[in-house]
Amino acid sequence: MYKKIILFSFCLFFIYCAYSLDIKIKLFQDFEVESCVLQVETGKYAILGDNVKILPADLETSALLTITAFEGKIKIEKGVQFLGTFSSVEFLGTKYTNNFSLKIAEIPVKRVYEENLSVRINNGLLTIINNISLEKYVAGVVQSEVFGSSNDLEFFKIQAIVSRTYCLANLNRHLAQGANLCDGTHCQSYKGKCTQPNILRAAYETFCDVVVDTANRLVSTAYHSNSGGMTESALNVWGKDMPYLQAIKDTFSLRARNARWEKTIPKNAWTEFFVKNYGDKYTQAPLQSQIMKFEPDTRQAYWIIDADTIPTKDIRMYFKLRSSFFTVAPKGDAVVLHGRGYGHGVGLSQEGAIEMVKQGYGAADILKFYYIGTNVIKYTDIIDL
Ligand SMILES: [Zn+2]
Repeated sequence: MYKKIILFSFCLFFIYCAYSLDIKIKLFQDFEVESCVLQVETGKYAILGDNVKILPADLETSALLTITAFEGKIKIEKGVQFLGTFSSVEFLGTKYTNNFSLKIAEIPVKRVYEENLSVRINNGLLTIINNISLEKYVAGVVQSEVFGSSNDLEFFKIQAIVSRTYCLANLNRHLAQGANLCDGTHCQSYKGKCTQPNILRAAYETFCDVVVDTANRLVSTAYHSNSGGMTESALNVWGKDMPYLQAIKDTFSLRARNARWEKTIPKNAWTEFFVKNYGDKYTQAPLQSQIMKFEPDTRQAYWIIDADTIPTKDIRMYFKLRSSFFTVAPKGDAVVLHGRGYGHGVGLSQEGAIEMVKQGYGAADILKFYYIGTNVIKYTDIIDL
């Protein structure tokens, strides 16, 4: 029965995707790609070089093409057959379902993508763009970002809504490169086609759902691993006050894996941070001893010592701490930091959300808990397609 439901959802999902918004994702953002190998995995592809079809017949399954940046152009070879050099190349799927894979030298495995591909040349490197329906992209992002942390449908639904909202709120991020978003952590991690049935079902069941504020504007869906029991405001982390990203008490995160951490730092290294940033006075009494003890019982954005207001996020960054929510106590020649949570603490706590799912809360309620005063609506109600 369960398998039938998944199969049914799966089929409906692909039908729905035909009516979804198309978006452009710049692939391999974190690499400088000079060459890649494309293979047709499913369906058939027409190849257009400078807007003209360059092969009379469409590329069949298993066909292999090498795409190389060559003297300011894109060189295309099929096996040993040279097909030409072009300024722009398009791979357009001509069957109902079309998948292709890309392999670059820097990544050990090939990645499989759906729908279409555009290639451009920029400063001697390939700009590779996947043209894909938003919903398939969302499923791919959820698989890349969170698969393994949970296999719960309701949690995947939350992530699908968060990812879709982020995407639509950031469509202009890579316009200069001819894309909407990239596939790196700069935007959202996207490693290609989603293969997990539960994630596809989550994308289907939240089709078009996004989080909006009271004025029906897409919200900034910040999230992190674990809040440590209290989230942080956007104002304290990014200097921008957002009514739906405020500090809230979050007991759901308290029992999860990343709720607590501990780190021991030698006293001289600890002191060095304060001396470097706030002066030599921290090598002398009484300030020397004041920096060895910090015992807040709630999340503090600042540690105030003497006339200095020290952002705890700066200490986090300097010592590569899991969070900026910690206490400090001296121990011999070191200080011991007892910390809570993992990540910047703003917005949704993923581990808190997983706990809420276990307790029976639904995706929309969980999103409203972490994004205060927001609603989940269909983006088609606020965006003209
Ligand atoms: Zn990006």
